[in-house]
Amino acid sequence: MTLINDELTGLHNRRSFLALLRRHIGYANDKQTNLALLVVDIDSFALINGAYGYDFGDAVLRFVAEQIGAVSRTRDYAARIGDNRFALILPRVMNKGHAELAMQKLARLLDAPLQVSDTPVRVSVTVGAAMCPQHSSHAEYLLRQAEGALATARLNGQRAGFAVSNSVDFSVSDLWDLEMQLDSAIQRGEMVMHYQPKVRLSDLRPIGAEALMRWNSSSRGTVSPDIFIPIAERTGQIKKLTMWALNTALRQSSEWQHEWGKLSVAVNLPGELATQRDLPDLVESALRLWGKDNIQLVLEITERSLMDRVHGFDILTAIRTLGVEISIDDFGTGYSCLAYFRDIPADELKIDKSFVTRMLTDRASADITSLVIDLAHRFGLTVAAEGVEDGATLDALRTSGCDVAQGYLLGKPMPPAAFQAWLQAFRSETALTTTAMAG
Ligand code: C2E
Ligand code: CA
Ligand code: CA
Repeated sequence: MTLINDELTGLHNRRSFLALLRRHIGYANDKQTNLALLVVDIDSFALINGAYGYDFGDAVLRFVAEQIGAVSRTRDYAARIGDNRFALILPRVMNKGHAELAMQKLARLLDAPLQVSDTPVRVSVTVGAAMCPQHSSHAEYLLRQAEGALATARLNGQRAGFAVSNSVDFSVSDLWDLEMQLDSAIQRGEMVMHYQPKVRLSDLRPIGAEALMRWNSSSRGTVSPDIFIPIAERTGQIKKLTMWALNTALRQSSEWQHEWGKLSVAVNLPGELATQRDLPDLVESALRLWGKDNIQLVLEITERSLMDRVHGFDILTAIRTLGVEISIDDFGTGYSCLAYFRDIPADELKIDKSFVTRMLTDRASADITSLVIDLAHRFGLTVAAEGVEDGATLDALRTSGCDVAQGYLLGKPMPPAAFQAWLQAFRSETALTTTAMAG
C-alpha cells in the first residue's frame, strides 16, 4: 500500500494519481464524456508550519485531506500530489458547473476552523480546475492547466479559478473528433501557411513575415490555430506540425529571395519543443535543405513557455549558433523578472498585442510598451510590436523607438501569392510616399 498511498493522509500519492488520471482520461475518451480535475493548495502553509510547528502542519494536512474526502463522490479520486498540494479527479461530470459545485462545497467545509488543542485556526486554500477534453486530454498537461489556473487565481486574490480554454464552444464529442482528424490533416493537405508582413518602422520597409498556420478541415471548415495548436500540444502531435511549418515556411521563403532579397521568416516554436535535444539538428537540416545562406529564420517562442522551462536555454543557444534568431513572443504577459530575462538567448522581443492595441487609450499599456522598448534596447534586443491596427498607434510606436511593426494596418496574414502581391504593392506605395516626402 505504501507505494500508492501517502502515509500522512492515506490518499493516493502523486505517482498513483498520475496513473489514475491517465486511466480515467482513457475512459473519458472511450465514453466521450467529461472529466474534471481540481488542484487544491493550502495557502501560506510554510507560515503555518513556522508559527505552530510541524505537528500542527501535519494536522492541517489531514484536515484538508478529510474535507476533500467529504466532497468526493464514490467514483472520485483524491490524492496528495505535493507538500501542501492535493488533487481531486472527478470522472464523468456533466459540465463545468459540476466542478464548480465541488469547489464551492470544499470552500464551505473549510470555513469551519480547525481546532488542534486550544488553537482554532482557519485554513484557507486556493483551488484550480481544468476539464478534459476541453483543456487537455493529456494527463500531465491537464495537471499543468489546473495548476496554472490555481496560480492565476492566487495572483488575482481569488479562491478558485478555472483554466481558460478557446474550445468552450465545442461539444465534447467535437473535441474528441478534432483530435482524431488533426492526426492526418497534413497528409490530407488541409494545412496551409499564411504570412503576415513585418515592417521596419524607421523606413517602413518590409523585413520579413511571420508564418501562421491555418487548418482548412474538410468536414469542419476553417479551424483557428488557437483551437488546434493546443490540441496538437496535448496530444503529442505538435512536433510533426512544427516540422511541417518549419519546412513549408523555409521553402516558401527560399522562393521570395530571388525577387525580394533577404526577407526573414518567423516560425512559432511551442515551448515544449524548445528543450528537445534533437531540435538544433532538425533545424539545421531543414536550413541546409532550403538554402542556409539565403534565408533568415526566426523562431518565436512565448515568454510564458520560456518561464516554465528554466533549463532549456542551452538548446536555444545552440540554435542561435546556426544563425537563427530567437524572438520572445507575447512579451509582457508572463511577468518574467529582469534578472531572468537578461539570460534568455534572444534577438527580438515582441510586445504582446494586448498592450499594443490599448496603448493609446490605456495609460498602463502605454507605460509597459515604452518600458519594454527601453529595457530591450538596453539588453541589445530588437523590439517588435504585434497587433498594430491603426496609424496613430504606428506613429506612437515609432516615437517610442520601437523597431518593427506587424498588424492588420500593414497587412493581415495571407496566402503566399497574396503576400508576394502585397510586397509588390507595398514597395511601390512606400516609394511614392518617400518621394512625396522628399519633394
Ligand atoms: P501569435 O504567434 O501571437 O500570432 C499572432 C496572432 O495575432 C495571429 O493570430 C495573427 O493573425 C493575429 N494578429 C495579427 N495582427 C493583428 C492585429 O492587428 N490585430 C489583432 N487583433 N490580431 C492580429 P492567429 O493566426 O489566429 O494565430 C493565433 C496563435 O496561434 C498564434 O499567436 C500562435 O500562438 C498560434 N499559431 C499560429 N500558427 C502557428 C504555428 O504555425 N505554430 C505554432 N506553434 N503556433 C501557431
Ligand atoms: Ca508569434
Ligand atoms: Ca504574439
